[in-house]
This record gives sequence, structure tokens and C-alpha cells, in this order.
Amino acid sequence: MHKKLYEKIKKEIRAENILEDDGHSRFKMNNPRGKTALVDNIPFLFTCDEKNKLVCRKNHSIVVENGIIVKIAPAKKITGRNFDIVYDAGKRGGIVVTPGFINAHSHPPMYLLRSAMTLDEGESIDKTIAAMPEWERAMTDEDYAFATVGDLTEQQKSGVTTTLSHYAVYAPIEAAARATKHNIINAVSVASNTHPQNSPELIRKIIQKKEDNWESQLAMALHYVHRGNDKIFREVKKLSEKYNLLFTCHMAESESVAKRCVERHGLREVALLEKYGLLNERTVVSHAIYINEKEIEKLIENQVGVVHLPTSNVIHKSGTFPLWKFFDLEKLSSVALGTDGVVSKSRLDLLTEAYQTRITHLYSRTVKFGTLFKMMTVNGARVLNMPDRGKILPGMKADLAFWKLKDRGFIPFDEKNPMTLLGNLITHGGRIVRDLMINGRFVVKGRRHQRVDESKLLQVLQKRHMKMRRRVARKKKI
Ligand SMILES: [Zn+2]
Repeated sequence: MHKKLYEKIKKEIRAENILEDDGHSRFKMNNPRGKTALVDNIPFLFTCDEKNKLVCRKNHSIVVENGIIVKIAPAKKITGRNFDIVYDAGKRGGIVVTPGFINAHSHPPMYLLRSAMTLDEGESIDKTIAAMPEWERAMTDEDYAFATVGDLTEQQKSGVTTTLSHYAVYAPIEAAARATKHNIINAVSVASNTHPQNSPELIRKIIQKKEDNWESQLAMALHYVHRGNDKIFREVKKLSEKYNLLFTCHMAESESVAKRCVERHGLREVALLEKYGLLNERTVVSHAIYINEKEIEKLIENQVGVVHLPTSNVIHKSGTFPLWKFFDLEKLSSVALGTDGVVSKSRLDLLTEAYQTRITHLYSRTVKFGTLFKMMTVNGARVLNMPDRGKILPGMKADLAFWKLKDRGFIPFDEKNPMTLLGNLITHGGRIVRDLMINGRFVVKGRRHQRVDESKLLQVLQKRHMKMRRRVARKKKI
């Protein structure tokens, strides 16, 4: 199934005639398909070190082999080797390098709903949310696949290299991951409003059909905790343990959802997950607004990953995440950021979400830029149980974002205190990467996506969006 969808994507929107070397760029392509790369002369490199301390390395170079970072050293110290690709980050005003960002919560197929939902004014937000499944049911598998390509390429252009997708379908997400070369956790609903046939059995079926060359990492999702029942929770627990699968759910997003769980199960959401042994490091909960201090302690104690989505919380009038309680207990190390879907956020990047985090919680204290940087990188890796990413260190995956220094988002900054660059990136950020490396390959080069023709993609999405609108309108008339 995903192969057919992948072929369709390739046929319609694959990028062609990408310039391997345009003569004056930072790239020297000795062997464009080779597996070694040198990122040379980086004026400013931001990362957390082995002890999770944020550092800025000046004038360094990175060596990449087979998709892995193998060496970081002061520039000019790495010589005497022929690399397949040499990227001169010191050229033309210079480049700031950060780890690729980690988006711990999103709903990529909803990309096709942009304008269908957010910008239809006049209705209340509750009506908008209630209408969502109706629009989603009017989408086909091909729609989900192309919409996911739209969502992921937008994320990539703003520096995201790993994303947790929470949705009800598996194959369209896998096909889009292949087409975009994005690192995806493909969390499939075990119970769904839009896909009532979904159950834990579907996860088993996907595992049985598993082909070795999957590019997405399978996981399980549940839209609301209260939707689960005894059978579902027991199965989720079994599957999670047997196959080491992550389990993700929206938790305590609104007061009414929190109440509904007590009405249906006689327990609050945290207690319900605890009852089924689902409070552990393989569980990722998003929002977590209506939870008390004891429950926060329990989540931290059991290493549950938490995703903060401040823009979504404001747009949907959900409430405010108890960020300072997490901060005081464990410096937010188990809290990552997410974009949510287009219905819940203006643009699909984490820099604006980091800034939103800062201004949302400013009334009490200030979330420091270093903490926000960690939320986008190392905390994301911790929340998604992916210790191989989020830092620029030897042995880590070569997922790197390259930001042009001579840019209004960075300049002016204090040359004696390069951390001011990081403050600028977050405060004046929300911009497009110059280049992006995923698993050692350049996926975005010179602001152009290397795998997807964005011009064709936008045309396809526009057509499919209008078709979906017509299908919804026809249904309403019946
Ligand atoms: Zn969500």
C-alpha cells in the first residue's frame, strides 16, 4: 500500500534537475552520492555536550560518515582526506549550525485542512473542532500522503529533522517519510473517530506485514485517554512491551476531557494510565494542562515524556500548561515542544513555538533561551526515546540545520557573547534554513528542497483541497 502511494508521490512531485554544484555555492560535490562529508569552518556551532550543557563552538568542523557524525574539531585541523562532499560554512558571511530540531507532536495529514478550518471565521472554535472529523473523513489515502509531504517539507524548511506523527493511518505517513527523507515516528491510532475500524489488532497486522526497509518507526496513538477501554489498554501495554513501541496520547487538554475520563472510568487520566502500567518511558503525553502536583510528580518519576504546545493551547482556549511545576522539579528535561497540526498553529516550526513558550509563561518567570533550545533538541530526543540525536557529538546521527548568519534574524548580535545569536534565532526566528542535513544527506540545499518539487506540490495540494471541499459540501446537501 505505501509503495503505491510512494510511486504516486514520486510521479507527481519529485524534484528534478537539482543542481549538484552551482559553481559559487558553499558546496563542493566531489561525489554527490558518496557517504562522507566535511562541514568546514563553522563560525558558530550550538549544541549540548555529553553532560547536556549548552555550548557554542567557534570555528569548528564536522566530519560525517554513513549518516553519523564521527568527528568535531577546530577548523583546519581536519586535512589530508578526500571527502565526497565539502561544505564551506565560513563562506559568504558564514553559517550557524544547530542540531536538527525534534518535533514531538504533530498531525501531518491535517495539512490539507489549512484554510478549511483555521481561517473560516464566524464559527466558534468549538464548532470548528467538532467539524474536523467530517473534513478528515472526506480525505483519501492519497490526500493524507500528499498532505503529509506538505507538512513535513514545511517543517524541514524550518529546521525540523525528526517528527512524531499522531494519526489514524500508517501507509500514507510511511510513503511521505520516504518521499521527504524525514525521520518519522509513525504513531497509528488504536481507536479513532475518523477510522472506526482501527484497533490494537491493526498494529499487529502492520507488524506482521513489516518489510525490512521501513523508513518510519511504528508507534501507537490514542486521541483521548478516555476513549480507551480495558481491552485496548491491555493490548497497548502488551504491544508496547513486546515490540518496544512508543505510545502517545493527548492528555488533560481541556477541563471537559479530564472530566469525561472520570465519568467513564472513575479515574483521572494519569491514574487510568497507571492502572494499566502505561506510565513509563515509552509513553508520550501531549498538552497535560489539567493535572495536579501529585500527577506531575508521578509523570516525572515514571519518565513519561511530555509535549508542550503553547500556540495550540491559546488558539483552542485550552488553558495554560503548568510549566514552572515541571521546571522546579526537573528543569523541564522531560518536556519537549511540538507543532500540532495546521488547525492549531500558524506555521509548522519549533522556533516560533519556543518563542510562544517564552511569552506564554513570562508572567511568572522567564524561560531562558538555553532551556528553549534544549526543549527543541535534547529534550525532544529524551521524550521520544531517541538517544542518538539532538546533539552535535561524535556517534550522533548527522541531522543538522544550517542557518545563514548574514540575516535579519541574527544580526546585530554581540560578538563577545555568541549566546546572543541563540536569543536572536528564537526571538526573531521562525525562518527558513539555508540547508538541512538528515542522516548525512542534504535534503534542503540553497533553500530548495532536494526531493520534492515544491511548486508542483503546492499545485497538487490546492487541487486536492478543493476536491475535498466539494466532497464535504456534497455530503452536507444529502
Ligand atoms: Zn494534537
